[in-house]
Amino acid sequence: MSDVRTRALTGWGRTSPTTARVAAPRNPAEVHERLIGRTDRGVIARGLGRSYGDPAQNAGGTVIDMTGLDRVLDLDLERGLVTCQAGLSLHRLMELVLPFGWFVPVTPGTRHVTIGGAIGSDIHGKNHHADGAFAQHVERFELLQADGTVRQVSPESDPETFWATAGGMGLTGIVLSAVLRLIPVETAWMKVDVARCADLDDVMARMADGDASRRYSVAWLDCLATGASLGRSVLECGEHAALADLPARPARDPLRFRPRTLGGVPSALPGGLLGRHSIALFNETWYRKAPRRKDGHLKTIAGFFHPLDGVRDWNRMYGPAGFLQYQFVVPFGAERTLRRIVESISAAGAPSFLTVLKRFGPGDPGHLSFPIEGWTLALDFPAATPGLAALLDGFDRQVAEAGGRVYLAKDSRMAPDLVPHMYPRLAEFRQARSTLDPDGVFVSDLARRLAL
Ligand SMILES: Cc1cc2nc3c(=O)[nH]c(=O)nc-3n(C[C@H](O)[C@H](O)[C@H](O)COP(=O)(O)OP(=O)(O)OC[C@H]3O[C@@H](n4cnc5c(N)ncnc54)[C@H](O)[C@@H]3O)c2cc1C
Repeated sequence: MSDVRTRALTGWGRTSPTTARVAAPRNPAEVHERLIGRTDRGVIARGLGRSYGDPAQNAGGTVIDMTGLDRVLDLDLERGLVTCQAGLSLHRLMELVLPFGWFVPVTPGTRHVTIGGAIGSDIHGKNHHADGAFAQHVERFELLQADGTVRQVSPESDPETFWATAGGMGLTGIVLSAVLRLIPVETAWMKVDVARCADLDDVMARMADGDASRRYSVAWLDCLATGASLGRSVLECGEHAALADLPARPARDPLRFRPRTLGGVPSALPGGLLGRHSIALFNETWYRKAPRRKDGHLKTIAGFFHPLDGVRDWNRMYGPAGFLQYQFVVPFGAERTLRRIVESISAAGAPSFLTVLKRFGPGDPGHLSFPIEGWTLALDFPAATPGLAALLDGFDRQVAEAGGRVYLAKDSRMAPDLVPHMYPRLAEFRQARSTLDPDGVFVSDLARRLAL
């Protein structure tokens, strides 16, 4: 029998805690037990809780912590296919497969996410323009359904269930295991070109020109820069380094993957470390310390993809009030909306510690999958920033009008009436959900708040 405790949970932003019965099963039979023994407030799966808002919370109901189901069930080193339980983290998967010359096809800005969470949010990485989102690399998964049956789902055998679940925020069932296609790499290093970009036009032009020939690209924006420097950025484009790219020392053990994590941030930081002034200072320093241009610079996989994972519990730096992540995408052609939003943030002096600009390639068929072809901007604001709610409400409207959308895995405050505009396939999702789960067993705070 799995362990069950009543606990308050939040997302990574540490806002809006709610209390649920949290079960920690260690095998699929125990997940099933918890599904059957639920209360009428329903059930939701939770991975490593790296969503920023409330999709892995269920006030008054059951939350199934899937991290105990973290076994690799099969590894085909010839074809680069891994079958694993859904609670396995990308971190652990990288530790296992990198020494054999394989890497995950899509990684977000942290490797501390589970396979189930990666499917639930259909996550994207710095290579979306080249490789698409996570679910495109999933051959099939096993889904525990509301009636207790387990279904094998692949895009060929059952496209409706597959694409309702990919990006479906855990609302179609519980993914128990998945088969994932890996990508081959010669080393655990990245070859990176870094360039400072003087303003928003400069960075967008360079990304538009360069993305076709670069597998990974991302720009870090100084959102507090004003005037002629508005949108000044540091652009990083990378490729997996080949063995021939490494100097003698790393070439001796080219697939070594031992990322280091510095000590954590203390939990009792009353005001937090990140406010308007410290963020302005950080942005300025980040921009100035970047080389004007440096090509072919070697970085470790962790240093390139997951710099924040280097500090444990960095989300505590915002203090007890927590922070909001706001990520939207607007289609190509709606560059004016992106510019207006960057201008408004700068004019309001709203401090975002990390502001990241990327270009997405075509979206996948996930009903609620976030990426669409266009520009995406992600911002982190301290939750206590004065005027933040009104500012973001205004951005939501502009994004929706431009045919764009806000990322559900990061949302904690959007109004429900905009969701059908942002996600035009919401009605199809609801239809698929009601067929798969007619009694509404799978539910979360996010689903209630946004009427998904
Ligand atoms: C520092 C940082 C950087 C990030 N960068 C990116 C990025 O670049 N790109 C990106 O796309 N995202 C990014 N994210 C968000 C993160 O990738 C997603 O929120 C991801 O879903 C988190 O996975 P998790 O295992 O923590 O899942 P949780 O946050 O616990 O859950 C996320 C959703 O998945 C569902 N879920 C979890 N497990 C299962 C399961 N077994 N079966 C069915 N549903 C399940 C949950 O119900 C929930 O709806 C970032 C987050 C952080 C903290």
